[in-house]
Amino acid sequence: MTRIAFIGLGNMGGGMAANLARAGRELTAFDLSAAALERARASGCGVAVSATAAVAEAEVVITMLPAGTHVRQVYDEAILTNTRKGALLIDCSTIDVGSARAIAGLAKDAGFRAADAPVSGGAAAADAGTLTFMVGCADDDFAAVEAALQPMAKAVIQAGGAGAGQAAKVCNNMLLGISMLGTCEAFALAEKLGLESERFFEIASKSSGQCWSLTSYCPVAGVGPATAADRGYAGGFATAMMLKDLKLAQEAAAKSGAATPMGAQAEALYALFDRLGFAGKDFSAVLQMLRGDLGVLS
Ligand code: NAD
Repeated sequence: MTRIAFIGLGNMGGGMAANLARAGRELTAFDLSAAALERARASGCGVAVSATAAVAEAEVVITMLPAGTHVRQVYDEAILTNTRKGALLIDCSTIDVGSARAIAGLAKDAGFRAADAPVSGGAAAADAGTLTFMVGCADDDFAAVEAALQPMAKAVIQAGGAGAGQAAKVCNNMLLGISMLGTCEAFALAEKLGLESERFFEIASKSSGQCWSLTSYCPVAGVGPATAADRGYAGGFATAMMLKDLKLAQEAAAKSGAATPMGAQAEALYALFDRLGFAGKDFSAVLQMLRGDLGVLS
């Protein structure tokens, strides 16, 4: 039985670690938050008093932390120094491509196998064990990465070598941000033109404007399948998270010289919506800003 250390037991990591424990994996978990650690214990995980203690016996180390700085710190202070050589290190956090490649390089130099494996799917998918993992790793390591992630996954897909998982994640979420704004703009215009939202949904769903933001995540309450819009835009994928990913996309575009003017617009609009006080609302709530009707969100 592979011994796994899991570090970062927040909204995502809590459910992911619980699924590994449920699948019978030998798991030692750690988080700086005592409450998160207690939840992990209650869901069947073994817990450690520090990251250093958590990784001491591990053959696989999984991290699910807020941003690149946290990942780098935990790697520098605990993982690279205290894990047994040859272990497989998998970072599932969403971080910038440059940091992911740098961390993979440090891990390789120190005698480890490393993978970046960010996820698609929010806390509900983390709880249900239905995340999609986008993996950047050496070809020889992919089977081991897939086996480690399987109890938490709907799909585990290799995107390429080190950093490729983060590259796929940032491109996917930039596309999502842009398509959600386009969908919201189309509904706002349709309303001004006197079109019923339900009727427009029906038509666009079967026309060339069809996209996931429209048919699977419709931002208009009462239209299409049940979405965050039907719950007052609570839960779902927070605006702050979308803004984080759009910033990562712009950073990657600047560094690589890619032209992403629509991504830049999406970042600016989500930054405005965030600053207006709606960081915690689902990202589809940006429809209310375009409608000029923010009152319904308070
Ligand atoms: P979160 O803030 O709920 O959880 C992060 C956890 O890391 C916290 O419990 C925190 O105490 C812990 N932590 C921070 N520094 C630590 C350290 N040095 N040692 C140990 N623990 C430490 O965040 P989340 O929503 O679980 O997101 C985690 C990652 O997943 C992020 O990179 C995010 O972008 C990505 N992600 C989130 C979602 C989502 O819908 N929430 C979806 C896809 C990807």
